[in-house]
Amino acid sequence: MTVSAQQEKELLERVPTGLLINGEWVEASSGKTLPVYDPATGKELLRIQDGNSDDALKALTAADEVQAEWAQTAPRERAEILRRAFDLVHERAEDFALLMTLEMGKPLAESRGEVTYGGEFLRWFSEETVRHYGRFADTPEGKLTMIVRHKPVGPSLLITPWNFPLAMATRKVAPAVAAGATIVLKPAQLTPLTSQYFAQTMIDAGLPAGVLNVVSGSSASAISGPLMKDRRLRKVSFTGSTPVGRRLLADASENVLRTSMELGGNAPFIVFDDADLDAAVEGAMGAKLRNMGEACTAANRILVQESVADEFNKKFAEAMRARKIGRGTQSDADVGPIIDEGARENVHGLVTEAIDAGAEVLTGGNKVEGEGYFYEPTVLSVQENSPILTQEIFGPVAPIVQFKDEAQAIRLANASEYGLAAYMYTQNHNRALRVADQIEFGLVGFNAGVISNAAAPFGGVKHSGMGREGGAEGIEEYTSVQYIGMPNPYTVD
Ligand code: NAD
Repeated sequence: MTVSAQQEKELLERVPTGLLINGEWVEASSGKTLPVYDPATGKELLRIQDGNSDDALKALTAADEVQAEWAQTAPRERAEILRRAFDLVHERAEDFALLMTLEMGKPLAESRGEVTYGGEFLRWFSEETVRHYGRFADTPEGKLTMIVRHKPVGPSLLITPWNFPLAMATRKVAPAVAAGATIVLKPAQLTPLTSQYFAQTMIDAGLPAGVLNVVSGSSASAISGPLMKDRRLRKVSFTGSTPVGRRLLADASENVLRTSMELGGNAPFIVFDDADLDAAVEGAMGAKLRNMGEACTAANRILVQESVADEFNKKFAEAMRARKIGRGTQSDADVGPIIDEGARENVHGLVTEAIDAGAEVLTGGNKVEGEGYFYEPTVLSVQENSPILTQEIFGPVAPIVQFKDEAQAIRLANASEYGLAAYMYTQNHNRALRVADQIEFGLVGFNAGVISNAAAPFGGVKHSGMGREGGAEGIEEYTSVQYIGMPNPYTVD
């Protein structure tokens, strides 16, 4: 059912509009507000407080003051807060889904999928909290006994992007809470409303004041800058573009901060001649069109083996053409808008440049006239030197390149500065594992187009970043290891 204007209004009235500092929603010291827009209409949805450097420092003070006490809480207590938050996110699932659709644009069905995916980090890390073991062992020569412990890393700055407003927040907040670290969360300025609502949900789940502080604002660097220099901060976890990640890494080096960097991607999607082509088309639709292509894991370079290229291209272009474009609140919309006009111009620029370089348009290729920032699902047949293959597209545009053999597919897949996600379709399991071994990517989908999961370690290599979120690895990003050595009580008097 299409959502009514009244439902939208009632939900927006329930979103906290302040900055969350030490458990209170407060006004920004600037006295300014930050407008948040609906990319499907271009209209303002709501204004929230526009935080700046002073507010950021107040948030860090709050996080620092409760860090020691929070570190001492029983793992079970932290686990139960996360578990209650998981239940509350599900009770409020429709609110979260609609908020994401309103501020980010994705169709409601996809937003609901993100509630499920994002919520799972709360459940997963509630379980990990009480199973986060250290080590106790004798040293090899037997003289010492060692205790290896995991302590909370300390106050952490978490910076999230706009494309997955709930999941990018839960993927960082849940492991930080599990590990006993305190938090200053800086949501993307384009989509802060979901984070505001999520932070209230964490408070409702019983998170003590000061553990999670949220500072949104129009200038990201005004918020992160002073925190990155402050000796009280111990960690920065960033998800966003590689250029911003590089800058933050440079800043982090000055203060010797622990870092987790989830950066850009340029995923290859390889279709071998023995693939089940219908399954490959379906997988490519998921890997390309989920989130309107605005995902770091989005298939941006579809590589198809020559002998099956005509059939694959035809079926894939037909499937892309059949998708219905519309505001995400409409029940029949499959493809929502691009996040803003600048981003849409960027996508169109990449398409135009590819066409000038010789690309053949199999479907799409145009902006959609009218309100909002919609773009047609687009399939291009390109040569391997096409400029569009070298950049993150972040839109519903799929360039296809043909290859002759496995060696060429591997070479093309690796011909990128990025190394986040890669996909391949083949019925030959040996080949799948052999290719996975030779491609430089942190995530590999084998006969699967969407593989993100709270239980799996998510992260990239090369310029896609460092560190992992989710899985058993996710909690380690928020702990520091302490080794205690003592005379071996069993062998030394
Ligand atoms: P972005 O880098 O522009 O912004 C990300 C966040 O960083 C936002 O909160 C933004 O306000 C903040 N930011 C921007 N400039 C900053 C600065 N100078 N100092 C501190 N913070 C700053 O990215 P985006 O456009 O929001 O998101 C899209 C990018 O995120 C794409 O490159 C995508 O691949 C990447 N991404 C990666 C992952 C992953 O897990 N690897 C997941 C989602 C998105």
